[in-house]
Amino acid sequence: MPLKDMYEPCGQCGFEYGRVDTEAWGTSSARRLMCPVCGWTAYEEIVWESNQPHLIKRNEAKGFGAFRLIPPGGYCGYNAFHEQPSPEVLQNLRDLIVNNGWKGYISLWDESEGKAFLLLGSPLDKFAVIDRR
Ligand SMILES: [Zn+2]
Repeated sequence: MPLKDMYEPCGQCGFEYGRVDTEAWGTSSARRLMCPVCGWTAYEEIVWESNQPHLIKRNEAKGFGAFRLIPPGGYCGYNAFHEQPSPEVLQNLRDLIVNNGWKGYISLWDESEGKAFLLLGSPLDKFAVIDRR
């Protein structure tokens, strides 16, 4: 699959490299989109008829931030906050990075500014750049 098809602009913050996961079964396929910056997600279900795609379902969910936390020697993908994370949740995630040697980042969505900001840590690759200013 060409690289450009694996990324799509975010519908919330405009970040160009929203992650795309695809799956297919029978004559149907689905795409899950997730923005590693603001946590925006979308789900699309497509039915193929005569090689033409027909979008039959699309859900979008607002993001309240995102995080990726990788334990020492381990692996973990990206996660989105689907609601405002509580102080306790943020404290737990922060502890992993600050006190337990985990790598990764936490970003939060700033409603008044209309953009995400990096709370802690650093993005792990060039497609996860948080702040493009
Ligand atoms: Zn976004």
